[in-house]
Amino acid sequence: MSIDPALDFMPAYGAAERVCVGVRRLTARNTGPLTFRGTNCYLLGDSEITVIDPGPDDDAHVADLLAVAGAPIRRVLVTHDHADHAGAARRLSELTGAEVVGSAPIPSRPFYRPDGILADDETVATEIGPLRVVATPGHAAGHICFDLAGSSLLFSGDHVMAWSTSVVVPPDGRMADYMASLDRLAGVGARSYLPGHGGQVIDGLARVSELKRHRQAREAAILRALDSGERTIEEIVSAVYIGLDPALTGAAALSVTAHTDWLEERRLVRKAEGRLSRC
Ligand SMILES: [Zn+2]
Repeated sequence: MSIDPALDFMPAYGAAERVCVGVRRLTARNTGPLTFRGTNCYLLGDSEITVIDPGPDDDAHVADLLAVAGAPIRRVLVTHDHADHAGAARRLSELTGAEVVGSAPIPSRPFYRPDGILADDETVATEIGPLRVVATPGHAAGHICFDLAGSSLLFSGDHVMAWSTSVVVPPDGRMADYMASLDRLAGVGARSYLPGHGGQVIDGLARVSELKRHRQAREAAILRALDSGERTIEEIVSAVYIGLDPALTGAAALSVTAHTDWLEERRLVRKAEGRLSRC
């Protein structure tokens, strides 16, 4: 039996693994059905460190991060304001004096208060070269990716991963934005992606096309489920997600909601009293 290479990712917890020249990866121990083997924190540079996604606010993880750094951490960059990525930002900044810059926070996540917000196309200097900000809303409203200039390498956060699709959680996450952000990456041209969870995406553009096809197929399945009449979100989940791990039912319901919100925006579906139907 062959193992899917995207699932064959076994991080060495507590150790920074070199991914390529100037880039190391420390994976936090927050494994789970949505976080896979844990959140990846990337350390860029050897004499002056820029961290991309500090990870969860967890004692052991923050201690690991400080132990493996090997040089002063000058800057903490954040792809998006989910706690498994941005949770440790403030504590790391207090411990090291590093500035925190990254995606725009939403008010409901008070643990993430960056010193600066990065705009689309802005560049951030690092020891290994400038990182260009690519705005990729969808998984989270303020989600950004970082394109390492001249390297064909992009830090893709939770927007594009090899092991799984992204969860789009409304109202912060929007399917219309997520699909447009997939197209956006197709235009960036980076070949290989380093994601927030799991191993490297070797062929980023092929993965982007695959994710688009997956969402289009999911949308078609939701519309088919509505062909026979009105349905609730839960009824659509059981019609569309066959053999779903029960731990992922909540995530699937959110994903279906994101799809049906987008169908509503395009006036293909209407919602009344919690029940959905074709227009
Ligand atoms: Zn996330």
